Amino acid sequence: MLISMRKTATTEDIVRVVGALEDRGIPSQVVHEANRVVVVLHKRRPEDVSGLRLLPAVDSVIEVDHRFQLASIQSRRERTVIRIGDVEIGGETATVIAGPCSVESREQLLAAARGVRNAGANLLRGGAYKPRTSPYEFQGLGLKGLQLLAEARQATGLPIVTEVIGTEDVDLVCEYADVLQVGARNMQNYPLLRRLAKVNKPVLLKRNPAATVEEWLLAAEYLLVGGNPNVILCERGIKGAGLETRNTFDISAVVLARQLTHLPVIADPSHAAGRRDLVPALSRAALAAGADGLLLEVHPNPQAALSDGAQSLTIPEFERLMLGLAEPVRRVQRPMVRIARPTAQMVVPRRAAQVRIAGGPGRREIWHANP
Ligand code: PEP
Ligand code: MN
Repeated sequence: MLISMRKTATTEDIVRVVGALEDRGIPSQVVHEANRVVVVLHKRRPEDVSGLRLLPAVDSVIEVDHRFQLASIQSRRERTVIRIGDVEIGGETATVIAGPCSVESREQLLAAARGVRNAGANLLRGGAYKPRTSPYEFQGLGLKGLQLLAEARQATGLPIVTEVIGTEDVDLVCEYADVLQVGARNMQNYPLLRRLAKVNKPVLLKRNPAATVEEWLLAAEYLLVGGNPNVILCERGIKGAGLETRNTFDISAVVLARQLTHLPVIADPSHAAGRRDLVPALSRAALAAGADGLLLEVHPNPQAALSDGAQSLTIPEFERLMLGLAEPVRRVQRPMVRIARPTAQMVVPRRAAQVRIAGGPGRREIWHANP
């Protein structure tokens, strides 16, 4: 439930509402936007809200349509933009996070980091703690991996995204990471989510392959309600027939999550496909559907990778993918539809380039109905 305040509400009015909720034993969070202030209750259907409507400057008391409240677009109409140094996630252009599945060695990580930085990636990814399906497979370098990530950040200037798999590692990973990844297997690890709600670093929350969009957004709600507003959602494929691809890229989840929430939503076509040949087309599809960015696995020598080699792009393949995304769409593929005789009422949409490459041409028009 949320209480929308009148435009004229003063700080005292807001404090009075928060106090009245506390008196009823209901914690709440205040959301400030340019055009309104909303008090979001940490309860969905409180029994006793009658008096609240009558408090000064209260405009309306609204029941949120979904079980997630703080994640809901009803609570915050302005889209959340997450800033990591001078990188934005959820801003005007798509953000690209790229790097190897696992940190394996200094040579491997630095080659990957320099390669993805030169091709225009905005953040470097790499796992030091790996949640492997088999206990016999490479589990990551742990602390050594984190130290190598810090070295790669120093060498390239790219902020670091890395996974944390257990509550006991959170403090250590926080010392090194700029963004903490919660892997698909841990999406509903509630002790971990509660702990990450208390850190002041953004969290990249992957969707579990068997989770509904609602379950995924409720997992995000744990982070938000616990006090961490910087949540990035990541769709990484769900269980499908699973014959030709590792998972099934759920593009509808990207669209739906952006519709239901104000949080940035990125896509991970690498884990969705499980094979590198599909990654460029799925990346374009994700951005065309409105994804705020991509998470891509890139390895200097995928054949020798200790994890996820089959889905990892080589550095030249990643360079080609980035150039393809930064190019105006009309120059790299056919028009999506041909309209024989557009009427005068038909507006010509203009959009920014999907990915901006540092030092590149910046904003460009990428689509015309009738070029
Ligand atoms: C990863 O990003 O390397 C990873 C383990 O992904 P997921 O949690 O989506 O399987
Ligand atoms: Mn991986």
